[in-house]
Amino acid sequence: MTLPRSVRVVAASLVLGLAAALLVAVSPSPALAGLGHHGQHDKKRKKGKVVWDSTSFYAGSGAVAAHGKVPGGKKKVKLQVKLPGGWHTFASTKSSRKGTFSIAGTLNWYGSHKVRVSTSGRHRFNRSTKVNVFYTYAPRGNPADHVFLNHQGVRYSFNPCKTVRYAVNGDDVGPFGVLFAQMVMAQTSMATGIPVRYVGLSHQIPFQTDETRLPGNQDLLIAFADETEMPDFVTRSALGFGGPVQLRPARDGRHRRVWEATQSAVVFDTNKWYGTDLEQAFVGKKPLWGEVMLHEFGHAFGLDHSNGPDQIMYWQAGNGVYPDGYFRALYGAGDLAGLATDGLGQGCFRRVTRFRDGAPARIAAPRPLP
Ligand SMILES: [Zn+2]
Repeated sequence: MTLPRSVRVVAASLVLGLAAALLVAVSPSPALAGLGHHGQHDKKRKKGKVVWDSTSFYAGSGAVAAHGKVPGGKKKVKLQVKLPGGWHTFASTKSSRKGTFSIAGTLNWYGSHKVRVSTSGRHRFNRSTKVNVFYTYAPRGNPADHVFLNHQGVRYSFNPCKTVRYAVNGDDVGPFGVLFAQMVMAQTSMATGIPVRYVGLSHQIPFQTDETRLPGNQDLLIAFADETEMPDFVTRSALGFGGPVQLRPARDGRHRRVWEATQSAVVFDTNKWYGTDLEQAFVGKKPLWGEVMLHEFGHAFGLDHSNGPDQIMYWQAGNGVYPDGYFRALYGAGDLAGLATDGLGQGCFRRVTRFRDGAPARIAAPRPLP
């Protein structure tokens, strides 16, 4: 049995009015007197609806997508992922005057994450779901096999909630080397969840002095240099170096102290790039440039050397051969756990002017690791 519309509205307001009057009679608290009003809001809130169109995909091949209707008409609609310290927006759109919306956002971060559609202000509305971003391979080894770079117990890393803008100095290696670097970059981005953007070519070589400074539009420099330009390749018998070049104090999503790397760099030995000890590949019968580059990128994003010989962050190249006799340029389970913690897993950073307990306001960047 249904009532005609006009009668129903009158009946509802009568009931609500009566409920409010009764509550006021029992307790004159203003908060309680407002209950009837809140009841109406709850009703409106329930009118929203979210249909999740895509919540499971392989990293690099999909996006989180949803459509539906939010209460309150035209609103800013956000896609957010839950991180330590709060929800982080990774896509936004506007709903129509009727409240309908359609939204999609890139979340290329390996693992299972809690994601929601959210609006704020009046008629605030949230609906969450679980998103799975699958690995395209089975990472090997022990997830505990990772170590963080630190200075007096404080980690270094990029602020994971900011896009890392990177340039490539491919003067010695041409377009093949640039594309190769971009493919390595994509893997590191999926491991950390940190979005990256290629901003173009550079001619700069990092770490030639104690104070490398990148142009204002770059957060990461990927460079190739020969052994005359970078004699440390020979003196420290290294295929490459990586690490932060500029640090400032910050707090992560759990309010822990962290050195925010505002600029980092990696550099690779082009004499060896054209040598025969390694293959310029991601899978092969010899140690791979893909492995070396993933390793130095790991340093640039905050990882120190791992104790697991089957991990990319192991200090020595060439230990990574798989049981089938092939080398593969793929982060292992320990590398990935470390990179997730050095990425979105630590929550967004808040900049602070200095740490309270006497640590300096800024420190010189540490010597890059091979
Ligand atoms: Zn290293």
